[in-house]
Amino acid sequence: MKYKCNLIQDLLPLYYDGVCSEESKEIIEDHISQCSNCKEYYHSLCKANEVNIVPQNSDFESQKAASFRAVRKKLKREQLLLVAFVLALLFSVAFACKTFLKHQSHVLECDETISVSMIDGNLLVRLKGNQATYIRQKRVEAVINEEEKTCLFFYLSGTTWDELSTSNEVFSEYVLCASDKGAEEIDAVYYFDGDYTGIENLDGNQLQQIVDISVLLWSK
Ligand SMILES: [Zn+2]
Repeated sequence: MKYKCNLIQDLLPLYYDGVCSEESKEIIEDHISQCSNCKEYYHSLCKANEVNIVPQNSDFESQKAASFRAVRKKLKREQLLLVAFVLALLFSVAFACKTFLKHQSHVLECDETISVSMIDGNLLVRLKGNQATYIRQKRVEAVINEEEKTCLFFYLSGTTWDELSTSNEVFSEYVLCASDKGAEEIDAVYYFDGDYTGIENLDGNQLQQIVDISVLLWSK
């Protein structure tokens, strides 16, 4: 044989890795085709490397999987933080809107949701699907159409929040005049959402003008 086994066996790892020159490759292949000793040595080298390669690969795969898991975990954490941030923002906006709407008090328009009735000697106003936060009222005794009359003028205030959040199924009731406060003497109840200053001192004509722009909700 042209080359010694020692030399060939020194080169075999390079041959196995495919990094030796064409010339060396030819020499090695020629040698191991004739030398069973070096052929066996080459096979043992292959086996040893195969055994090594597998765990190396699986290590790499598990490392890859671990880093992928870490990235996914990080993304998940960031997503959770984002969701929490958006929820907190929405909650703050909703809270601000609610607070704003709760402070948006306005005089309620007189429509079919407001009614007045005399129950057990008490004059009651019933408000459907809403709640009043304030009741302005004034009892006025005056001569209207040459008749001495006791009139009760009132209006209700409420918030936009109550208007939006109260169900149409429910109603609220308020006492306009209780039986022990002279409810019996009242002849008519008007819904008047204008200026109440000095209303009790107006003469018959001026009061008639207010009656004309008011809504009669109840009369004897
Ligand atoms: Zn040999």
